[in-house]
Amino acid sequence: MATEKSNARQASLDRASELKKRAESYLKNRANIPSGLELASHLEKKREKYLDFFQGTQDQWEDWHWQLRNRITDTETLNSLIPLTPEQREDIEKVGKEYRWAVSPYYLSLIDENDPQDPILLQSIPSVDEILDTVGEADPMGEEFTNPAPCITRRYPDRLIINVTNLCAMYCRHCQRRRNIGEVDQHQTKANIEAALDYIRANPEIRDVLITGGDALLLSDQMIDWILGELHKIEHVEIKRIGTRTPVTLPMRITDELCAIFEKYPPLYINTQFNHPMEVTEEAKKAADRLIKAGVMLGNQAVLLKGINDDPDVMKRLNHELLKIRIRPYYIFHAKNVQGTSHFIPSIEDGLKIMENLRGYTSGMAIPTYIINAPGGKGKTPILPEYLVSLNEDEAVLRTWEGNIIHYPNKK
Ligand SMILES: *Cc1c(COP(=O)(O)O)cnc(C)c1O
Ligand code: SF4
Repeated sequence: MATEKSNARQASLDRASELKKRAESYLKNRANIPSGLELASHLEKKREKYLDFFQGTQDQWEDWHWQLRNRITDTETLNSLIPLTPEQREDIEKVGKEYRWAVSPYYLSLIDENDPQDPILLQSIPSVDEILDTVGEADPMGEEFTNPAPCITRRYPDRLIINVTNLCAMYCRHCQRRRNIGEVDQHQTKANIEAALDYIRANPEIRDVLITGGDALLLSDQMIDWILGELHKIEHVEIKRIGTRTPVTLPMRITDELCAIFEKYPPLYINTQFNHPMEVTEEAKKAADRLIKAGVMLGNQAVLLKGINDDPDVMKRLNHELLKIRIRPYYIFHAKNVQGTSHFIPSIEDGLKIMENLRGYTSGMAIPTYIINAPGGKGKTPILPEYLVSLNEDEAVLRTWEGNIIHYPNKK
C-alpha cells in the first residue's frame, strides 16, 4: 500500500515536470513581449513628456474631450513626438490624402518610437501598404444587404446591431468598416435611431441588441442614456450590448458620469477590441474597474493582424493581461479582405496555430473563439483545430491537446 502510494506520487512528480517543460517556451518568449501594465512607470514618464509638449495638465490628460481635441492628425506634430524619416513623412502624407488618420495623445504615447514595427504604431499610423493594396474589396461583408431598417444590421434570428455613429476615437489602420468610418463624421440622426427602435419594438424575437458604430461611446452621455433607456423599456430585449474601442484608444471616456448611466440599465455587456498586450495599461485597467463597479460585463473581440498579434505567444499574453483586468477574451476575428488593409491579413493556418497553443496550455478562461465572418453577411463561423478525429456509432476518436489519440465510447 505504502509503495503504491509512493509510486503514484513519483508518477505525479514525473508528470508535473513534463508539464513544467511545456510552460518553458512561453515563459522564455514572454520576456520579449511588452505589456502596458509591466511598463507602467515608463508610460508615466512618457505621459509627462507628452503633457509638456501639449502644455496640458494631468486633469486635461484624463479628460476625453481634451484627448480628442488634441488628436495628432499631421506629420509635423507626429514627427515632434515620434521622429520620422523624410520618406516616412512623405508616405504618411500620401496615404493621408486617401485615408484619414487621427491618434489620441494617450494611444500615441504607448508607441515605442525605436521600433518601426511597433504594434501600436502599425495600428494607428498610416503605412504605404494601404494605397498599394489592389486585392481588398470595398464591402466584402455585403453589409448593404442585411439592413431591414435604418441603422440596423440583422444577420441572426434573435439579435441585431444598431449602428449609432460613424465616429471613432481613432481611425484604426486595420479597420474592417473602413468604408463607413473616417469619410464622413456623423452620428445617426435621432429620427433614424427612433426608426431602429421601432423595428426592435415590432419584432419580439429580438432579445439581444448590440449598439455599435463606429464607436458607440463617442455619442454624448445624454444620447447614450436615451438609447439605453428606450431599449430598457422594451420587454423582449433581455440584454443590451455596446461595442466600443474606447477602453483601448481613449480609456478616459469611461467616466463616473457615464458609468452612473450604465448602472441604470442592467444587464449590459460591453465588448471592446484589445489587440496587443501593450494596450493593457493602468488607464485601461481603471476604465475596466469603473465599468465592472457599474455592473457591466466585459469581453474582448481581438482582430488577428499580421505583424501585430499573429503570434501564439503574443496572443496568449494578450489574453492573460486581459483576464488580469477582468476582461474575458470572447472572439478572435480573422481579418477580412477590406480595401486598404490586405497587408494585415494573416493565413488561416496562423490562426489555427494560435488556437492550438492556447487549449490545454492555458486557462480555458483565456481562450476566445476564432471566427471567420462569412461573406455576404452569412454570419460568424467558428474554426478550431481538429480534436474530433472521427465519430461513428461505437466510438469517437479524439486528439488531446498534447496530441494523444483516445478512443472514447459513444453510448446511445
Ligand atoms: C457579430 C454580430 C452580432 C453578435 O454576434 P454574437 O456572436 O452573438 O456576439 C449580431 N449581429 C450582427 C449583425 C453581427 O455582425
Ligand atoms: S474603433 Fe472600430 S470601427 Fe472605429 S476605426 Fe477602429 S476598428 Fe474601425
